[in-house]
Amino acid sequence: MTPHRKDTPLERVNRIGRELSRHLELQRKLGLEFLPIPALDALPQPEPPPAPGGKEELLEDLRRETLACRRCSLAGTRTNLVFGAGSADAQLMFVGEAPGYHEDRQGIPFVGRAGQLLTKIIQAIGLTREQVYIANILKCRPPQNRDPTAEETINCYPYLLRQIEIIEPRVIVALGGVAAKKLLKTEAPTGRLRGEFHDFMGTRLIVTYHPAYLLRSPGEKRKTWEDMKKVRDYLAASGRDSRKL
Ligand code: SF4
Repeated sequence: MTPHRKDTPLERVNRIGRELSRHLELQRKLGLEFLPIPALDALPQPEPPPAPGGKEELLEDLRRETLACRRCSLAGTRTNLVFGAGSADAQLMFVGEAPGYHEDRQGIPFVGRAGQLLTKIIQAIGLTREQVYIANILKCRPPQNRDPTAEETINCYPYLLRQIEIIEPRVIVALGGVAAKKLLKTEAPTGRLRGEFHDFMGTRLIVTYHPAYLLRSPGEKRKTWEDMKKVRDYLAASGRDSRKL
């Protein structure tokens, strides 16, 4: 008997090719049309593009929508829309009442004397204005800085709610009675509401004095400092990510 000669590499490749071809022909006869390939999720995936509908994009869409708003007469008397400013990723959000003269001129919330005091309050807890988000209940200035009417507040409030929904802050600070009453649906005065956390649709909310009031009553600054320390401590204790904040 002739001893079995080992295949050369070329013969081995040809043999495998013939076997593969026979196997495929058999599969075709059995009705197989496509070779199975690994599931897509088993293959290395390319880096996903930046998610459309990210927070910044959603806020910008909302800003454009608000810019076109004519729900109340303030659209006809304002100089600029004062939509809000700060980080779309902010974990801390401040909500005031309505834009004043300087805000209306510049289209930026809290830039007058009260705004400068708010900047100091933010810095006092180790943050910057760019790290937080600042908005008002009303996006347009009421003439002569009068109080917002109930109708204006009802019309404008949904925009603030959507800002909060997009940003998802961990803490909201209501600055003054108008913001506090609207957000907490209460008639209680600021002095009774401040000093403790409230629940706002699952988010912690603290009430403190409006910086404009603090300019008139500097003796109350200490209480606002107490409120802000609570905010700072809560964010620190609940593992804040200082890069995002
Ligand atoms: S105050 Fe609010 S509701 Fe009124 S026009 Fe401006 S954005 Fe619209």
